[in-house]
Amino acid sequence: MWTRGLARWYEVHGRHDLPWRATADPWPILVSEVMLQQTQVTRVAGRWESFMARWPTPEACAAVPLEDVLREWQGLGYPRRARGLHDTATVVAADGWPDTEAGLRSLPGVGAYTARALRVLAFGAGTAPPQDVNIARVTTRAALGREPHEVRQAALEEQLAAGRPRAMSARAFTYALFDAGALHCRARPLCDGCPLAATCASRDRLALSPPERRRRSPRYQGSTRELRGAVLRAMLADPPPSSIGELQQRAGPPAAGRTATDIAVVLDALVHEGLVIPTARMVRIN
Ligand code: SF4
Repeated sequence: MWTRGLARWYEVHGRHDLPWRATADPWPILVSEVMLQQTQVTRVAGRWESFMARWPTPEACAAVPLEDVLREWQGLGYPRRARGLHDTATVVAADGWPDTEAGLRSLPGVGAYTARALRVLAFGAGTAPPQDVNIARVTTRAALGREPHEVRQAALEEQLAAGRPRAMSARAFTYALFDAGALHCRARPLCDGCPLAATCASRDRLALSPPERRRRSPRYQGSTRELRGAVLRAMLADPPPSSIGELQQRAGPPAAGRTATDIAVVLDALVHEGLVIPTARMVRIN
């Protein structure tokens, strides 16, 4: 089996100290999964603890205005994730957690990956692990000798379903694959010390022809994303700005050199996405 050696390696080398792994409560696990979607583990750790200290339950999160959650989220980026969490907290506080994967997928901001992750990591389901980029990469390489884009999803699912060592729960198997992917089977793999190296179907291929370095992601500085973050931060201040000119000034360097129209367009988009709530003071801005 392609996962021979994984259980033992995970016991010794797994990232057991990640704080969200100490619980099987779906709320803290959901918060961690949402934070980790677009933010590195090292940046998430302290932020997750701070979020959980403020809102340890969906009920606690649902009881505060979205603005409070957005303020707490500042610096993590992609604030739509915070809105999804707040919306989900509101649904769960009212109706409880859905008890099926399909039900979980109906929660705001919860897609196929997160629903499966919740089932396996929080609700004790014995299904195959969720398919994220890292799990797909380590599995297709180790089991099938291919890169993820060369493999049908059904074939990947089959390997994940059949690959769980008998000694591991579905939850431990999932965490072990996360860790093997994060610590060894990166885009450019570090095969020495990898728990799957003994039977890996890609090791020789990748030693002869390592994947090319990934292209760097577009610069954040000067981007619309940076401007959105600055405008949102300014709008969450108390009191918020009362004109586009004031908003531009308070948004700081990311807004320098932008026109009032640029700022208004970004503000409109944030309102449209439900991240800035139109109030009487907003009317004065527009
Ligand atoms: S041996 Fe190398 S290619 Fe195979 S799973 Fe491990 S890190 Fe990935």
